[in-house]
Amino acid sequence: MQVFHQALESDPEFRNRIARVEAYTARHALLNLTARSAGPVVIPVVVHVVYDSPELNLSDEQVRSQIDVLNEDYNQANADRINVPSVWSSVVGNAGIRFALATTDPSGASTTGIVRKQTTLTSFSAGDDGVKSSAAGGDDPWPSDRYLNVWTCNLGGGLLGYATFPLQVASRDGVVILASAFGRQGSAEYPYDRGRTMTHEVGHWLNLRHIWGDTTDCSGTDYVDDTPNAGGPNYRTPTFPHVTCGNGPNGDMFMNFMDYVDDAAMIMFTQGQCARMAAALDGPRASVARGA
Ligand SMILES: [Zn+2]
Repeated sequence: MQVFHQALESDPEFRNRIARVEAYTARHALLNLTARSAGPVVIPVVVHVVYDSPELNLSDEQVRSQIDVLNEDYNQANADRINVPSVWSSVVGNAGIRFALATTDPSGASTTGIVRKQTTLTSFSAGDDGVKSSAAGGDDPWPSDRYLNVWTCNLGGGLLGYATFPLQVASRDGVVILASAFGRQGSAEYPYDRGRTMTHEVGHWLNLRHIWGDTTDCSGTDYVDDTPNAGGPNYRTPTFPHVTCGNGPNGDMFMNFMDYVDDAAMIMFTQGQCARMAAALDGPRASVARGA
């Protein structure tokens, strides 16, 4: 988010692109399109496993466990959805988006959708995006107009993951996930062992903002009407209700995938968020969405 907001401040071209995306998204919502106009989609995924030690060279099974989590969370099929407080059961959304490891690589050859790359670097940072560059010790992306690029590696600074928004930067587009917060087996460590870091980061990749609007004075917005305004991020496993910004009696929707709570505590998208993601898939992300 810091890189995103810095670019908004300093790069007028970027500001224009984001403004156009927001205008498009608002029109899409006005037309009442909560689902993508062309129907269900599958997003081809390539996972770049970048490792300097055997424990970071995640197994195919661990990678597939992460894809399973996405397919549950983006199809309202996660078992823990029953824990959504009843006051919000009517706004829970089904994004209707499927994810599949790519079966053909950019040259048309068959692939598992998992690329393994050994490195000498013990960790990477979001600041220089090094994991996305072979020259920098990471692994170059596949074309971002055809694939969702995912990198898993060790990250410094306590970062669990980070993502790019639509039209942010095509050459480094995708999501990066800390190896110990990836999937729900193997190297995944409590409390980030249910694959929700990637559910959250893919939400950004599909143009979702944090539900507190990235300000701490109640002035921000996530451009979604059915997520209550919130005073800041929630952490760990909060107790319902947590009232901020005059949002009582129900308080913050901290069980939303776009808050900062533990994996076990984030369990839902709203219909408004699903409408935003549908607009992203009809608009700036259209080329990567295959018909289901
Ligand atoms: Zn985030």
